[in-house]
Amino acid sequence: GTKDKKYKRILLKLSGEELMGEEGFGIDPKVLDRMALEIGQLVGIGVQVGLVIGGGNLFRGAALHEAGMERVTGDHMGMLATMMNGLAMRDALDRNNISARVMSAIPMSGVVEHYDRRTAVRYLASGDVVIFSAGTGNPFFTTDSAACLRGIEIGAEIVLKATKVDGVYSADPMKDPSATMYTRLTYDDALQQKLGVMDLTAICLCREHDMPLRVFRMSKPGALLSIVVGGDEGTLIEE
Ligand code: UDP
Repeated sequence: GTKDKKYKRILLKLSGEELMGEEGFGIDPKVLDRMALEIGQLVGIGVQVGLVIGGGNLFRGAALHEAGMERVTGDHMGMLATMMNGLAMRDALDRNNISARVMSAIPMSGVVEHYDRRTAVRYLASGDVVIFSAGTGNPFFTTDSAACLRGIEIGAEIVLKATKVDGVYSADPMKDPSATMYTRLTYDDALQQKLGVMDLTAICLCREHDMPLRVFRMSKPGALLSIVVGGDEGTLIEE
């Protein structure tokens, strides 16, 4: 028979870079399509999916600032980038017959709906994927923090952070071949060791509200589905 889901409602965080695929900038439509299908599998077994997408494939405030731009303006551009990614993802979901909505922390009337928690929860309960764009709406935050914030607000049971590596390692596995992957960490471990998995604001928020976090590799086929049926992919961060 069909596999039983472990979670009824999740918040999935995809980084903007994830959407780039092999390209150095922008959005790779093949990657977008593959992700849409994987998200569709979750919807298919009745999981409610909230989605936060980053903007690092287009703009990051900190990088723009390094190049001389005023930081808050750069962050505004970064947040607009997440809106573009959100629209692209909605389009890919639509094309695959997966019903989706984009809500934005920054109002952009006529393009996306303004974020409203109760409306979002209604959409989720009716089976729509809800893409939360424009991060938290505030400069100096990241979409990791936005993911944890929205996850807590909508009552998700877990925040899943998709990365390019299998999970959280003792050191950077790209640089240090002796690095080992943790299967489980406490919030305090993750904060103290500054393992660079997620920004500290995001981890603190999860600790404060007992929101479990799982870091996994999205490009591993079937990993996402495996997690929602109770699989032990990647690294779980909890109390
Ligand atoms: N950003 C922001 N406030 C938020 C979320 C994002 O100002 O609440 C800006 C910030 O400049 C950030 C950019 O949007 O660099 C893109 O988000 P992020 O770097 O988190 O994207 P990712 O690394 O996940 O692709």
